[in-house]
Amino acid sequence: MAIQSINPVNGKIIKSYKEDTAGKCAQKIALAEKAWLTWRRTSFEKRAQHLLKAASLLRARKEALAKLMALEMGKPLRDGAGEIEKCARVCEYYAKNGAALLKDELVKTDAKKSFITLQPIGIVLAVMPWNFPYWQSFRFIAPGLMAGNVGLLKHASNVPGCALSIEKILLDAGFPKGVFQTLLIGSKRVPQVIEHPSVKAVTLTGSTEAGSRVAERAGALIKKTVLELGGSDPYIVLEDADLELATTICAQSRLINNGQSCIAAKRFIVVRKVEKEFVKLFKEKMSNKRLGDPIMPQTELGPMSRADLRDELHRQVLKNIKDGATCILGGNIPDFKGNHAFYSPTILTGVKKGMTGYSEELFGPVACVITARNEAHAIEIANDTSFGLGAAVFTKDILKGERIAREELQAGACFVNTFVKSDPRVPFGGVKQSGYGRELGSYGIKEFVNIKTVWR
Ligand code: NAP
Repeated sequence: MAIQSINPVNGKIIKSYKEDTAGKCAQKIALAEKAWLTWRRTSFEKRAQHLLKAASLLRARKEALAKLMALEMGKPLRDGAGEIEKCARVCEYYAKNGAALLKDELVKTDAKKSFITLQPIGIVLAVMPWNFPYWQSFRFIAPGLMAGNVGLLKHASNVPGCALSIEKILLDAGFPKGVFQTLLIGSKRVPQVIEHPSVKAVTLTGSTEAGSRVAERAGALIKKTVLELGGSDPYIVLEDADLELATTICAQSRLINNGQSCIAAKRFIVVRKVEKEFVKLFKEKMSNKRLGDPIMPQTELGPMSRADLRDELHRQVLKNIKDGATCILGGNIPDFKGNHAFYSPTILTGVKKGMTGYSEELFGPVACVITARNEAHAIEIANDTSFGLGAAVFTKDILKGERIAREELQAGACFVNTFVKSDPRVPFGGVKQSGYGRELGSYGIKEFVNIKTVWR
């Protein structure tokens, strides 16, 4: 079966790739295993040198890589360049801090000496999504390779060009052959890879459904998983919020990557007293983006990444309207030529419990505004979801904001008066159906290591 890149601007095939056969996958796994036996004994200094070289190659190739993303999944060039810069920074961060994060820890016991050492575990399979094709991969690669593991990447089937370019960057950066490889396979073939005895663990970023399938198989074989899944992040706007700031951030966060981000703001829970003013300002800010071909430098919003995902989003919007929500912006497929995947920025107001906008993830540029009676009601609505990835609260009372973020919101990352984002220095991950385990920070780098006690 072929794996194809399709341009979401017009539906045209960019390139077809031959899927790796079962035999080819087995060869790659054998090469990875062989590479690990040497890589696990390579010094932190050497690993860091390769990561620093990868960072400089990412920067040198920034424009070409941004163009590839624009073509394969519709990301505007400027955003693509920003993503590559962030990948370079995560490589530098772990090159600089990896050794300290992984150092042995002496523990005083009745032994002559006892300590904890963090040892690599071997081959980790990374199943990754298309929305941030480089960032999602590098946030696994940088800590993972620094910790002495080797990686196999099964990227989303619509970004094979990006997937292969990542392998090339790492080879050109001097990582030995086999330390990082891309498997060109569809999702049906993932269980076979998980089942291979040399594959020790799996990290998956993607939908809750995919996470559940992968964890089921890995769990049956007692292989560890880290799952970064979907989210329906609530942004709470309280009575005392700075509405100018809140609406700017809310629109920016809802439209990150054309709404196709796990941590994009999705539900806007606004206290009734300020709702009218919020909606007025929010609509202005959601309306002023230039939609167009992502390859054109002036474009701010490209198409969604696939026409089938756009169609699914449109169905969700129509269902909300049928169930009583009011569409005050967008709600339509704009008029572009060809078999495109564009969707207009959309706002639904009056979204209530029982509607899909209240309970499901809307993975595109669609904002759902939900009315809350007061602060307590807003927190109740924010937590009334199966997801728990990110959340934000807007209030001029910073201490109140911090308390709500710390104690009240059920999510892995809670931000006050700004939008939720990932950062190499702090852990990232969810609770509830948004997954488990953490990437990044001091916790992320320790997910795929053998936390070993040595006692003598
Ligand atoms: P997806 O369909 O779950 O795909 C993600 C990856 O999983 C792809 O590589 C896909 O391969 C693979 N996959 C799908 N079904 C699988 C299965 N049954 N077994 C094994 N692998 C499987 O998700 P998506 O539509 O690309 O991405 C959107 C979702 O990802 C959203 O829910 C979003 O919130 C979530 N996400 C979460 C995070 C996070 O950090 N928490 C970040 C980004 C996105 P194929 O392409 O070959 O199907």
